[in-house]
Amino acid sequence: MGDMAIPPLSSHHQRQVGAPRPTRDLCGTHGAGCQRMGNPPLRRAWLPAMLRGARGRCPACGGGALFGQLLQVRERCASCDEELYHQRADRLAWPLAAFVALQVVMLAMLALHLLDLRPPLWTWALPWVALFALLLRPVKGAVIGLQWALRLHGFQYAAMCRPRRP
Ligand SMILES: [Zn+2]
Repeated sequence: MGDMAIPPLSSHHQRQVGAPRPTRDLCGTHGAGCQRMGNPPLRRAWLPAMLRGARGRCPACGGGALFGQLLQVRERCASCDEELYHQRADRLAWPLAAFVALQVVMLAMLALHLLDLRPPLWTWALPWVALFALLLRPVKGAVIGLQWALRLHGFQYAAMCRPRRP
């Protein structure tokens, strides 16, 4: 039986299947020649990072403040100098906080209705808005913590070869 005609792989596909992935030749902090260049980055635990962020602390060290005024994220951590401006949580924080607030308000609503307490529907807007406002910062901080831990949006390159700080 003759060989089946196999269409040639595109160069993109060949690179994925055959040769190893090209290693990054530039370290984000020290440039070419950095000793840690090409080493796999240290794994970061996402849950502690999210909790630190939710508390408004730097996801890397938990020491420095994450936020400046209101929802403004600081450029760098004042404690460990981690770059924080890589975050892209601005758009996700609002709808996520609104969703979480809605869940809580709906559960409270259900509980009150089961107790045969039925305040008019519009009164639920107030706790929802209050909860939403209270949740905005912790939710945004937690999202930033997750982005940091998963090295998204440039957190990938930030401080790659910097010696690990306590
Ligand atoms: Zn820090």
